[in-house]
Amino acid sequence: MTLFTVGEEINHRLGDPQCPECWEEFPEPCPCGGMVHAAGGEAEDEDGNVLLTTKCDGCGRSREEIEEEAGR
Ligand SMILES: [Zn+2]
Ligand SMILES: [Zn+2]
Repeated sequence: MTLFTVGEEINHRLGDPQCPECWEEFPEPCPCGGMVHAAGGEAEDEDGNVLLTTKCDGCGRSREEIEEEAGR
């Protein structure tokens, strides 16, 4: 099992859809075929939403980057 770093969490499991380190419903599938992992959540925004650090274990993009690309 290869470990994968997301934000400050170094124990995410590359390619594991049941990654035990991931935040809530994560990881989620990425269009590249990898899994998008999420690390949370020391910080919150002004609305009280937890700020997540997301990163795909395949292409290395964040969820925001992937969504931007999908919107085009
Ligand atoms: Zn993970
Ligand atoms: Zn990807």
